[in-house]
Amino acid sequence: MSPLCLMKIVWRQRALVSSFEPGLAARRGLLVYCGKRAATLGALFGEDIMHSSRRDFFKTTGLCAAALAAPAAADRDETAKHPEIAWSRKVPVRYETDVAVVGGGIAGVCAALAAAKSGARVMLVERFAVCGGNATIGGVGAFCGETSGQGEAFDAIVADLETWNAIAPYQPYEEKEARVFDHEILAIVLQEILLRRKVKLLLHTGFVDALEKRGRISECVVCGPSGPEALRAKQFIDCTGEAMLVRMAGFDTVKGRPEDGYQLPMSLMYFVRHVAEEDARPQLPEGWLNPVRTKDELPMSSIWPNGPRANALKLKVPMFDATDTESLTDAEIQARRRMMEVLDYYQRVEKRPWLLDHCSPRIGIREGCRMVGDYVLQLDDLRAARTFDDAIARGVFYLDGHKPDDEKRTYIIPEEQRWVPPYQIPFRSLLPRGARNLLGAGRCFSADQLALSSARVMTTCSMMGQAAGIAAAMAVEAGCDPRDLEYTAIRKTVVDRGARLDV
Ligand SMILES: Cc1cc2nc3c(=O)[nH]c(=O)nc-3n(C[C@H](O)[C@H](O)[C@H](O)COP(=O)(O)OP(=O)(O)OC[C@H]3O[C@@H](n4cnc5c(N)ncnc54)[C@H](O)[C@@H]3O)c2cc1C
Repeated sequence: MSPLCLMKIVWRQRALVSSFEPGLAARRGLLVYCGKRAATLGALFGEDIMHSSRRDFFKTTGLCAAALAAPAAADRDETAKHPEIAWSRKVPVRYETDVAVVGGGIAGVCAALAAAKSGARVMLVERFAVCGGNATIGGVGAFCGETSGQGEAFDAIVADLETWNAIAPYQPYEEKEARVFDHEILAIVLQEILLRRKVKLLLHTGFVDALEKRGRISECVVCGPSGPEALRAKQFIDCTGEAMLVRMAGFDTVKGRPEDGYQLPMSLMYFVRHVAEEDARPQLPEGWLNPVRTKDELPMSSIWPNGPRANALKLKVPMFDATDTESLTDAEIQARRRMMEVLDYYQRVEKRPWLLDHCSPRIGIREGCRMVGDYVLQLDDLRAARTFDDAIARGVFYLDGHKPDDEKRTYIIPEEQRWVPPYQIPFRSLLPRGARNLLGAGRCFSADQLALSSARVMTTCSMMGQAAGIAAAMAVEAGCDPRDLEYTAIRKTVVDRGARLDV
């Protein structure tokens, strides 16, 4: 047992009940403005889309649609209605490391791998049983964008997937936009590669809070099966997707589109297996939910092969907020109901010989909160293929901005405007404004919503993660803040490790 275990920090919560969350008015004012916003939403959807199952859902959960959605700008001014408590307790500083990565999605894994390769002691905190985030627990089994030239961290993952015969052969992005892999095998590949590099993993461990003073984080509080404990590190990297560490440390974040805060919609991944005709049957009991009866009623529902005699399906679940506890809960409930309503259509109406095999344990999240960094990457930067002296990553994927407020296959901008040329991401977009020993990478990096709609693909998130890991390790070695590093040195290491930044 490390002597650190004997030390304790006093962790004072400024206030419970989410009052420390920027944009918290979204939840605070809900009960007050429910009625008003519900009417707005009805008008927005129109009766044809907001069919009875959605209405029933809102009724039975006791929430109106507005309560599920991100806040409109005006609603953000609602004052707090919740009582507050002050909360203080001593927790052991059980862990100490050079670099702490919070969130084990593709960005967090690549950040941890890169920092460890640079010789730093690294810990990775992940709240689920496996690493991979959307790529494993979200069931998203395809790398979009260019899968070569992303850097050695991503290359190492792909090489292991190839060894396991669990990824499609390479094709350049220009020929194929996505490279499929086996997401169950990815979970094993990620844990093994992290352990080979001596990254200390804390699974089933949620990040809870950060102790911050004058821009510097000393510890973060995590909670796993052992209860709340502190993790002390020299550098922290937020790869939670929801910018949870950035938010809890009190730095700025934004979410959704500027006019009303609606985020890119979530989608549920689920999987069916093909059975013999005599075993095929509808699984939704008669009289349950509101099954889809015609093709026109289907929400956006993609289907593709998932190995022999199996399919993967993706279901759009719009109008929920991934950064709000109640809203995410409601999204999961709605998603599973909708999955059965849609599956019933395929089983009963189209007579497909499918049975539900499994459903991803967590709904797929495209957008949570985005940190506000020293630089906010804008759509215009992508369109202009703007170059940056501190470029550390490159994106190539088109603007995949699903429309946030309907469940059909619709996009924020017209088809002909979705292409972008290869573009660069600057290091400053990984530096939360005002923070000193904190970086952020992956889908919570600093960008506007449409820039995110491209850069959120896993290849690009991996590049950001790798760069953050490199910079954090360099800062540890130099004993300075990442912001004070020579950006050209970070960029050089990124390139030396095989990342292509040319545009
Ligand atoms: C339905 C859907 C389909 C998609 N399709 C594709 C595709 O085909 N190809 C592609 O390349 N991209 C696709 N994307 C986008 C891509 O999957 C994600 O943007 C990408 O995986 C984000 O990686 P990340 O590491 O930034 O975040 P995430 O994958 O979300 O990982 C964040 C991790 O942080 C953990 N975490 C969060 N909060 C805490 C906490 N408090 N404590 C501890 N751990 C925490 C989470 O559990 C998670 O493991 C899709 C996304 C969705 C939702």
